[in-house]
Amino acid sequence: MSHFDDLENARVRYEMAEHLEHLFQAGIIRECDQPVYGIARLVQDKGQEILTPKQSWHFRTKVEEPYCRPECWRCGFTISVDQAWDVESGDLNDLCPSCRHDWDRM
Ligand SMILES: [Zn+2]
Repeated sequence: MSHFDDLENARVRYEMAEHLEHLFQAGIIRECDQPVYGIARLVQDKGQEILTPKQSWHFRTKVEEPYCRPECWRCGFTISVDQAWDVESGDLNDLCPSCRHDWDRM
């Protein structure tokens, strides 16, 4: 694995950890939502690669697919995790950056 890959992985992991923090803060994933909450915390601390296949499945179907890859309602583009959160409104974004740009100008 090259140094670049290490950096890239660290960046992806950091963005995911940050995104999960938003999901916890907004109460989208709550402590009573087990085992999903525990798994999401694990991903936040250690990264997705340490999950067992079963945990990975939970994470993918209960966290990643519903909350980490929102699709733009205007063009269907999948919004990347670092852009998935609208910090100002505290909501998940439902427009991709380029549509948001167009929208703001209308
Ligand atoms: Zn769009």
